[in-house]
Amino acid sequence: MTDLIQTVTDGFTSRFDASPAGLWSAPGRVNLIGEHTDYNDGFVFPFAINRRTLVGLRLRGDRLLRVASSFATETVELSLDELTPENLAGWSAYPLGVAWALGEFGADLAVVPGFDVFIDSDVPIGAGLSSSAAIESAVAVALNDLWDLGLDRRVLARVGQLAENRAVGAPTGIMDQSASLLGEADSAVFLDCRTLEAEVIPLGFDAAGLELLIIDTRVSHAHSTGGYASRRASCELGARMLGVTSLRDLTVDDLGPASDVLDDETFRRVRHVVTENQRVQDTVRTLREQGPTAIGALLDASHLSMRDDFEISVPELDLAVETARGAGSIGARMTGGGFGGAAIALTPSDLIPAVTAAVTAAFAARGFAVPDLFVVRAADGAARQQ
Ligand code: ADP
Ligand code: MG
Repeated sequence: MTDLIQTVTDGFTSRFDASPAGLWSAPGRVNLIGEHTDYNDGFVFPFAINRRTLVGLRLRGDRLLRVASSFATETVELSLDELTPENLAGWSAYPLGVAWALGEFGADLAVVPGFDVFIDSDVPIGAGLSSSAAIESAVAVALNDLWDLGLDRRVLARVGQLAENRAVGAPTGIMDQSASLLGEADSAVFLDCRTLEAEVIPLGFDAAGLELLIIDTRVSHAHSTGGYASRRASCELGARMLGVTSLRDLTVDDLGPASDVLDDETFRRVRHVVTENQRVQDTVRTLREQGPTAIGALLDASHLSMRDDFEISVPELDLAVETARGAGSIGARMTGGGFGGAAIALTPSDLIPAVTAAVTAAFAARGFAVPDLFVVRAADGAARQQ
């Protein structure tokens, strides 16, 4: 964080020839369990991580918006009078989209002053840790403060989601922004995607000597967008054939009768979502009753369900999971949308070097690309930094 404070302060000064009025930061996130449940009105359980995006921001005396990032050489400029989703493109659609979306949630964009913002981040981009929610949430808390909007964090999460849906054009849910804004150290956010109720649940990883290892396979498949769309379509078909609004309305007891109604493939897609919802709730209950060393089996079961029922894993993710488990991780699963991306492995701290070495060696032996392994800790959500 000290490094980011320096680069943002220096970057702001060199681009805008002035000092920022303040610094705000927001974290990326990882989803501990609950995959492809969000768009089925179900449960997810992400946490904010110790990788953050930092923004320096200052209000202007006129209506101009200027955004710059260490990530890009250009400084993007736009008047508040031209701030519509249609006028936004590229990376600046994330910060400027948030300014626009605040207008949809009560900010009077006809009267607020313009701003200069400079952005830097140590959240890896495109690795499934949601650098997009980090940038949105950091800008949202900054403008909420300086425009004096008084919006609460649950509303700011919806602001970030709206920016991503309308200004960026990505049809994402509210999980990432909720984790980035509501997260707390050594805790995860139990989010009900139907009611948007969110509860912060202590993880107790620190006291148990556990760490979460990210294994970024660096695989990204061209068919991931199509795969996502077809899985969504299967879920909608399953719900329609079973006469429910969404798969959230089913429990594991409904699966027996469902297998008589659905074709085999649709049934397996449905079974993943229904059992995954149950696993998220079981994870929360297990954490409360037994502590984190008891959740490993739920992570393992989640992976098998995605591999065999939802069919969104790839050989690299399976190898990462199997090798990590063999080398001492207590539970492991792929995380994110699938068809590539990262796996997570809940691992005793003293075994992190051994698991890292084993996964690296196994990837080399199979001729896979070198994976990127690093530990993340559950961290506090968005905050004013200075
Ligand atoms: P992720 O999984 O990291 O969220 P996305 O594709 O959803 O991947 O979002 C990544 C995009 O967000 C980048 O391509 C860029 O447009 C924008 N972005 C993220 N972080 C920054 C940053 N620090 N500066 C500028 N743009 C950023
Ligand atoms: Mg994203």
